[in-house]
Amino acid sequence: MFYFLYLYAKEIQTMNSNNRRDFIKKSVMLSTALSLHSLKNIANNNPVPIVLSTWKFGLKANEIAWRIISNKGSALDAVEIGVKLVEADPQERSVGYGGRPDRDGRVTLDACIMDSELNIGSVACLEHIMHPISVARAVMEKTPHVMLCGEGALSFALSQGFEKKNLLTPESEKEWKEWLKTSNYKPQVNIENHDTIGMIALDQHGNLSGACTTSGLANKMHGRIGDSPIIGAGLYVDNNVGAATATGHGEEVIRIAGSHLVVELMRQGRSPHEACKEAVSRILNKKRSNIRDIQVGFIAINKTGEYGAFCLQKGFNYAKYNIIGNQLIDAEFYLK
Ligand code: ASP
Repeated sequence: MFYFLYLYAKEIQTMNSNNRRDFIKKSVMLSTALSLHSLKNIANNNPVPIVLSTWKFGLKANEIAWRIISNKGSALDAVEIGVKLVEADPQERSVGYGGRPDRDGRVTLDACIMDSELNIGSVACLEHIMHPISVARAVMEKTPHVMLCGEGALSFALSQGFEKKNLLTPESEKEWKEWLKTSNYKPQVNIENHDTIGMIALDQHGNLSGACTTSGLANKMHGRIGDSPIIGAGLYVDNNVGAATATGHGEEVIRIAGSHLVVELMRQGRSPHEACKEAVSRILNKKRSNIRDIQVGFIAINKTGEYGAFCLQKGFNYAKYNIIGNQLIDAEFYLK
């Protein structure tokens, strides 16, 4: 019970005042819904599970991931199945089916997955497959390699029974044709012409895993690969320490090996929030001329179920599901 109160106090401490007011209101309702099972877990000092994911679409992905975790499922299954929901949704225009195409009109997907045993799998520039995250998992579990790209990734997926599908929806095609009129390439900060779902989770067995999947930057060059399929950049998990994942301009995240950096900073004793903040500051301190046109956000959890996030500029939010409930939180940012 003390741990629950500690967790609750921590939640309040990490929020800004708007979030805090909203949170207190919601938590009065949510606390009545806390299951006896969760309370028993806390009392017995068992791991306190959590699911954390990027952006608003993380809320619905968290719901399904949490269901798996609260039924004693693995964090690995939770993150894979959680992000699949967003991959399959054509309304989400920056991930999977319905994702915005590259400048040649081709929807190319990047994804990776990592479990508590340092097992990793990744696919990059994969076309025609609705669930790149599951192909990444198959790379991890069924091949001697960790990363496949392009044609090779597609043939592997087909050999594993994944179905070939046209991922370019009429909406995305129409928008791309409109873009062709000017061909002006400019990823927009917080506008959903990119945005990745990165999800990290701690399960009831005390294991961490993560998944990350995206269609990348809209109108990118064909063949461009972002941070999301790159272990250490878009995602990193160390079961002794914590897990982190990234969203935003992949080129900047790769430059600092972002998610690995966040995990290493936690290893050195920083909280998830402080670790994310320091990683973002590495990008900021480079003082690149286009810094105002760039967004980068990190989210992280540690082994005890503490969580945190930080981003470069206003507008990045993330979804957190733990025993207190599912909640969208605005990340703190540097550029005012
Ligand atoms: N990180 C992704 C990429 O660079 C896009 C995003 O999350 O906004 O492909």
